[in-house]
Amino acid sequence: MKPVIDATHDPERLSWVESANATDADFPVQNLPFGRFRAAADGDWRLGVAIGDQVLDLREAGLVNHADMARLMQLPAAERQALRAALSDGLTRGSAREAAWRAALRPLSGIRVGLPCRIGDYTDFYVGVHHATAVGKLFRPDAPLLPNYKWVPIGYHGRASTVMASGHAFPRPCGQLKGPNDEAPRLAQTQRLDLELEVGIFVGRPNAPGRPIPIGEAEDHVFGLTLFNDWSARDVQAWEYQPLGPFLSKNFASTTSPWIVTLEALAPFRRAFARGAGEPQPLPYLDSAENRAHGAFDLQLEVWLQTARMRDAGQPGECISRSNFADAAYWTVAQLVTHHTVNGCALQPGDLFGSGTLSGPKPEQAGSLLELSEGGKRPITLANGEQRSFLLDGDTITLRGHAVRSGFRRIGFGDCSATVLPAAQGG
Ligand code: MN
Repeated sequence: MKPVIDATHDPERLSWVESANATDADFPVQNLPFGRFRAAADGDWRLGVAIGDQVLDLREAGLVNHADMARLMQLPAAERQALRAALSDGLTRGSAREAAWRAALRPLSGIRVGLPCRIGDYTDFYVGVHHATAVGKLFRPDAPLLPNYKWVPIGYHGRASTVMASGHAFPRPCGQLKGPNDEAPRLAQTQRLDLELEVGIFVGRPNAPGRPIPIGEAEDHVFGLTLFNDWSARDVQAWEYQPLGPFLSKNFASTTSPWIVTLEALAPFRRAFARGAGEPQPLPYLDSAENRAHGAFDLQLEVWLQTARMRDAGQPGECISRSNFADAAYWTVAQLVTHHTVNGCALQPGDLFGSGTLSGPKPEQAGSLLELSEGGKRPITLANGEQRSFLLDGDTITLRGHAVRSGFRRIGFGDCSATVLPAAQGG
């Protein structure tokens, strides 16, 4: 699938929704991300498209007659593009639909967002090679990157039940902890609660069981991307992770941004994918000229921390790390789809992949506190003097992301935010 740049990406297009025209708006008319919302706590779920500081209710705008995101996500590419074109035309200044669609707008500040779709299965990958190397060093100083890493896109099956939409809070989890000098493990609250800066990948079109998706068709099965925080209890993880990988250290909470930015919207922000000198080339089933030409996504990513003290003082929080999806990832989205199905595994609309933690090549670009604090040994110091090795109760983490390219409008993902509460039960 070649990314298609068309009139919907024209930077000259402005919207009659004035807030969408601000140069720093996450949701200009060139973006048009999809999500689900309720106008009231007990209201029906609606499908919507974010535009400026508003959401367009797709049913009220006459564009769909249902509230099933999975149906929309599995539309063939041509129909997805036609829907995008209709949204773009209708929301652009001068459209005859303005009068009718004004009545279908709701302010984002007045709605409740939900998960963008019902998530069937959740798979967490590990494509961040700088993260994998840094964490490998902490867990296994003698063998940081295991020999399979550069051949197989590493992943594990997670749980979808505790993936939540931005804006939630969750209790600090308990689990089995065993320090290196402890004789036996004990059940206790995690002392090493961490975030993971990831990109979420939402599957659109399904494949039948037994039918692998060739790399040339892989992106046709991806509806779009979100920001994704895969909260992790590092002390639980260290004790439980061998030999089958993470289990309870990862499935107590995960947070996704509520608006799926479609691959169509991201077409201008694709980048070549290349392996460095001396790196093994992907096996042929994971390789193609198209994947090499534009397999990567140039997305700038940020981690913001607001402590309880900052919140009490009316301070917005502090950016503690910045990285880029393309610089951090050893594998492309297309390679993940193709590898996931090479054995015949069936993907379904609404399945979610986490990319893995997207740390940049420099230490300050790390996408987790485990790396930023060097395994807890060197706490980071915040502008107000507070220090953090790992997260404390009351901390709010917000992931932000946007794509920028000269000659195009900046598009953003919206906030992916959640807050740590005290543990629900004593440990
Ligand atoms: Mn993860």
